[in-house]
Amino acid sequence: MSSSFLAINFAYVISAGMFIFGLKMLSSPATARRGNLISALGMLLAIVVTLFSQGLDYKWIVLGIVIGATIGLIAAYKVEMTSMPEMVALFNGFGGIASMLLAWSEYHQNPQMSVFIGIVASLSAFIGGVTFSGSMIAFGKLSEKIPGKAILFKGQHIINGAILVVALLSTVFFASNAESLYWVYVLLIIIALVFGVTSVIPIGGADMPVVISLLNSYSGLAACAAGFVINNNILIVAGALVGASGIILTRIMCKAMNRSLANVLFSGFGAKVQAGGDGPQGEIKPASAEDVYYILEAADSVAFVPGYGLAVAQAQHVTRELGDLLEQNGTEVMYAIHPVAGRMPGHMNVLLAEANVPYDQLIEMDDINPRMDSIDVCVVIGANDVVNPAALTDENSSIYGMPIIEVHRAKTVIVLKRSMSPGFAGIQNALFFMENTRMYFGDAKASIQALVAEFKGGN
Ligand code: NDP
Repeated sequence: MSSSFLAINFAYVISAGMFIFGLKMLSSPATARRGNLISALGMLLAIVVTLFSQGLDYKWIVLGIVIGATIGLIAAYKVEMTSMPEMVALFNGFGGIASMLLAWSEYHQNPQMSVFIGIVASLSAFIGGVTFSGSMIAFGKLSEKIPGKAILFKGQHIINGAILVVALLSTVFFASNAESLYWVYVLLIIIALVFGVTSVIPIGGADMPVVISLLNSYSGLAACAAGFVINNNILIVAGALVGASGIILTRIMCKAMNRSLANVLFSGFGAKVQAGGDGPQGEIKPASAEDVYYILEAADSVAFVPGYGLAVAQAQHVTRELGDLLEQNGTEVMYAIHPVAGRMPGHMNVLLAEANVPYDQLIEMDDINPRMDSIDVCVVIGANDVVNPAALTDENSSIYGMPIIEVHRAKTVIVLKRSMSPGFAGIQNALFFMENTRMYFGDAKASIQALVAEFKGGN
């Protein structure tokens, strides 16, 4: 064993350790930024060490780095916070196709593959291809370039099942004699790309968060398989970590919606949702800034419940300002966080952290619900599906079974939104018509600014 081989693998072990510590630190908002930095430094170390390996053609690598870094930098600077899930979907897809191309090019370098390498090269091509085309569909749905709702087609389960069987047979066939079966490999890539489309297109609407995190897991598995193909230990480790963390996040998200993964992937959830917003209708009670001010001013406890609209309005800073004013007024202030509020996992945590909301004021759904009856006022800021009581009571609702923040049990609910439009799942919300609910219409940022002005004027 040469000393450079040992040195490279020693550096890889350090990088792997940095990935694991970084991931661990991501589990708390207080340490998440540092965790991200540590993992990124681990990746930098892995890249630099890999570049010092012998036998690399640097001109292509430098070209790849320049193109990739330019796209990444521009995309990261330009992307709106609300479009982050689309970007994650896009980058997942790029990760998948990178693994697929890596295994494919390795075949061209060395078509005499052992059975094991033939199998992992097939896995890398298939999973990478599915990740790429599936992510492109997820991107199209989230950015509304294609219809977001579930698109069902006749015989979808049979077609998808048949594709999987063909993929399995192709893998076995290819691995048995890789050198002379190039066409099987190309076939596998084509059916992988088709399968990404046929498996993601029937999934719609509110299930996209789960799909994105599942595709994230796939991209890790594809990278892990590619690591075996080119015999690179850090790619195997990093891929396995992404694969495992993606599947853990997928499970957490399924639990947050009270659905099984099979139900998410195969039920065509949301296909029957109407764009106009089905559901209850009735009388609402609108409130002015002044009305809301008087309600808040008299409250002993206030829970802000942020949702996607907070992100759209970029209302996190004014919300914090209002929270501070309430605290100065002697009110207990909390921020209730639903795991799938917004459009990406942790969306609300990120926004509120940006506004320096104290971490101890962020209360998870499971912790706030038991004490909901004793809360004076819940201020729902651009949230809709995650506070829809139909999820608890209406078996026919498309979101039935999804755990919600049970704001309807608070003494008073103030809902901030611009209109009566439905949220992501496309259904009307019974909360808006309840006895204890007041609707405060307008852009969330402007509405909260008006409340801040009332408080400042009132003091
Ligand atoms: P919703 O999408 O249910 O509702 C958002 C509400 O915000 C709408 O009713 C909208 O009403 C209002 N709104 C939009 N812009 C503004 C604005 N500028 N000012 C005030 N209000 C505004 O959001 P939730 O957070 O409640 O639920 C998230 C949904 O997204 C769930 O169905 C979840 O499954 C899904 N999802 C979650 C992901 C995640 O990982 N978190 C990823 C993808 C989907 P109006 O237009 O009238 O203002």
